[in-house]
Amino acid sequence: MPDNKISTFDVTKIRNNFPVLNQKIYGKPLIYFDNGATTQKPQVVIDTMSKLHSEHNSNVHRGVHYLSEQMTEMYESARKKVQDYLNAQYSHEIIFTSGVTASINAVAYSFGEAYIKENDEVIVSEMEHHSNIVPWQLMCKRKGAHLKVIPINAQGELLLDEYKKLINSKTKLVAIVHVSNSLGTINPVKEIVAIAHKNNIPVLIDGAQAIQHQKVDVQDIDCDFYAFSGHKAYGPTGIGVLYGKERWLNEMPPYQGGGDMIDRVRFEHTTYDDLPFKFEAGTPNYIGAIGLGAALDYLTGIGLDNIQNYEKKLLDYGTDKLTALNGLKLYGAAGNKTCIFSFLLNNIHSYDVGMFLDKMGIAVRTGHHCTQPLWEHYKVEGSVRASLAFYNTLEEIDYLCEALKEIQKMFK
Ligand code: PMP
Repeated sequence: MPDNKISTFDVTKIRNNFPVLNQKIYGKPLIYFDNGATTQKPQVVIDTMSKLHSEHNSNVHRGVHYLSEQMTEMYESARKKVQDYLNAQYSHEIIFTSGVTASINAVAYSFGEAYIKENDEVIVSEMEHHSNIVPWQLMCKRKGAHLKVIPINAQGELLLDEYKKLINSKTKLVAIVHVSNSLGTINPVKEIVAIAHKNNIPVLIDGAQAIQHQKVDVQDIDCDFYAFSGHKAYGPTGIGVLYGKERWLNEMPPYQGGGDMIDRVRFEHTTYDDLPFKFEAGTPNYIGAIGLGAALDYLTGIGLDNIQNYEKKLLDYGTDKLTALNGLKLYGAAGNKTCIFSFLLNNIHSYDVGMFLDKMGIAVRTGHHCTQPLWEHYKVEGSVRASLAFYNTLEEIDYLCEALKEIQKMFK
């Protein structure tokens, strides 16, 4: 496999690893500030996947022939890479899915079938992505259970005292976002898990916006489930991960049936394969999984500490610059946050701001960012969201601020 390790953090060198960044949009250099939606891919991921398609392709787990065995080995080695990246105890605790949405739906269905009864309760928070709300609502509807919601304060932080008050003997699971995609808030997941565990309640963490920005250690957090998507962590689309503690995954029933997840099939009765295969029905996205492995190697090569330190610089610089802009209101001022700037400019609709920024070469996201209940809290429809990555620069933040001033002039 191609290797592309970087020993010291050098943003110019890093940018050269991402071919998509080197282009002009409407004649202006592309400034890609939509990393919360999806991240760009380093050359090593592109090359890995292209080589797999052109030289190695063969279905996993089923063949006795060379290519199939080789691909199976690479697929299982990608699982091991995810295990190491998350510091999971066992590689069979890593289930490949199509993304964080699929991972959460899998737990909502399977955990729901195994453990949820009428009038039970599941706790989520006000800042959840729809992917960590709707699957629980569907499950609650099926089972006659109820959703309880942890409120947030004005800075966009969870109110932990309110969380404690929600816990009772009917609470069966807590599902919480690690890092808010709309506000950047980093939630104190270790503390949230400890509170739940004191009451014997398992916790699922939506890590979609966390694992690309900081070291995540599932054993240290002690969460029961952790979910993330490859495409938000510099890997391919269509691949994701569900980490689950062995104990739960062993007890929970499969949520999809088909090839690869079985032990023995008879018309009268079917038995299932062991973990992790019990939860991987059908041909898996093995090329995506191996591509994800390459992305995680790339991140580890740069060093998550280096990434976190550099992104903190971007966050501090951007916060100072944007708060100095008259007429700009920032949403999300948590003491602990990632490099996400959610804002509204004067009374200009977020969509208009996004459209004008686009014409200046700046890619941002506008609207509710799949967190409608969160925006209800702030009594607005949504925001302009600039979500940064370690290939962004201070100069790009300067350019954003100048562009926003131009837009203010146009709307005056
Ligand atoms: N949770 C969070 C916090 C997210 O930011 C996202 C993506 N915006 C998701 C869940 C859903 O991710 P995916 O579409 O990759 O399944």
